[in-house]
Amino acid sequence: MSTFLDLPPLGAARFAAIEDQVAELLQTRADVIVTQGEALLPLEAAIRSAAHPGSTALNIVTGPYGQTFGNWLRDCGSKAVDLTVPFSTAVTAGQVAEVLAGRPEIDFVSLVHAEAATGNTNPVAEIADVVREHGALLMLDAVASVAAEPLPTDAWGVDLCVVGGQKAMAGPAGVSAVSVSDRAWERILANPAAPRRSYLSLLDWKERWTDAGRTVLPHAPAQLEMLALGACLDRIEAETLAGTIARHRAAAAATRAGVRALGGFSLFVPADRDAAPVATTIRTPPGVDATALVAGLDRALPIQAGGGALAGGMLRVNHYGRAAALDTVLACLTALAGLVPDADGVAEAAEAAWTAALAG
Ligand SMILES: *Cc1c(COP(=O)(O)O)cnc(C)c1O
Repeated sequence: MSTFLDLPPLGAARFAAIEDQVAELLQTRADVIVTQGEALLPLEAAIRSAAHPGSTALNIVTGPYGQTFGNWLRDCGSKAVDLTVPFSTAVTAGQVAEVLAGRPEIDFVSLVHAEAATGNTNPVAEIADVVREHGALLMLDAVASVAAEPLPTDAWGVDLCVVGGQKAMAGPAGVSAVSVSDRAWERILANPAAPRRSYLSLLDWKERWTDAGRTVLPHAPAQLEMLALGACLDRIEAETLAGTIARHRAAAAATRAGVRALGGFSLFVPADRDAAPVATTIRTPPGVDATALVAGLDRALPIQAGGGALAGGMLRVNHYGRAAALDTVLACLTALAGLVPDADGVAEAAEAAWTAALAG
C-alpha cells in the first residue's frame, strides 16, 4: 500500500547513529540531542533550560526570531536586555562587547546566525569570542545557516547550537537538534526552573537517554522524520558539506547580482558580507505591493512576500535546499524581470556571479 507504513521499528542504535551524524555536521564533540519536533522545540527548550529566574540575558535581535527569544527569556523570569539592530544589517562583535561591558551580570546570550526571514547573517565567530571572554553561555539559532554556512560549533565556542533539517539541509521539518556543551549542562543542572518531565526538558533526555548510554529510547521516535533526517545527512555527505555550502553561496551571489540588474527592485540587505546564503530579501519597486505581486507568480517558484510588517514592500527568494540551484535562481529572476521595463542582462549577471562564486 505505502512505503510510509508498516516499517520495522527505528531502534536506539539507528537513532544514536543519526545523532552522531548531526554532531559531525556541527563539528562538535558535545552531546547532541535530536529533538522530536520542529526547531522551535529545541530553541524554546534551550532557553527555558538555561535561563535562570532572576538572571540577566543579552538577547540579540536581528530579525523576528530574536523577538520570540526575548519573550521566552522574560517568561522564564530572566531580565532580558535586547540589542536590536536594523534587520537589513548584521550585529557587530563591537556592539555586543559594548553591552556586555556595561552589564557584567549577563550570563546568557541568544543569537541567530542566518535569518531566512530578513536575509541577513551575523558574524558568529567574532561575537562568540566576545561572549566567551565575558563568561556567558552562547545559544545560537543555526536553523537557517546549517549546511549553508560553516558552523564549527566547538571551535567557535557555541554552547547551545540549534539546527533544523528543513532549510539548507533539504530535509524534514519535523525533527531538529541541539548540541549542549559541558558548560551548558552545568548551568542547566543548577537551574531549579529547568523543565523536567516535560516535552521541553533537555534534562530528561540527558538522564534517560544520553547518560544512560543511548540504549533505550525514552519515547517512540518520530520514525519517518528520523529516516528522512538520516537520508538528508547521507546526501550532504555524498555532496560534501563544502559542496553544499558552496552551492548556497553561489545561489545567493547569483540572486543578488540578478537583482542589482533588475530596474526598480533593490536588495533589502545592501552589504554582501551581511547577506544570508539561504534567502535573498528584495525591496519591491515603490508602490508595488509584495503580497499582490507574489500572488501573480507561478506558485512553484520559491518566492514569498515578507512576513508581518515586511509583507507590503519585501519579497524573499528562498534559495535553500534543492532550490539552491542555478536554474531555480534564474527562473525566479526571470519571473521578476517580466514585471519591470528595465531588466537587461539579468540572467547574464546571475550566471556570471554563480560561476565566479563556485570558482572562488
Ligand atoms: C526557519 C527558521 C526557524 C524555524 O522556524 P519556522 O518558522 O518553523 O520555519 C528558526 N530560526 C530561524 C532563524 C529560521 O530561519
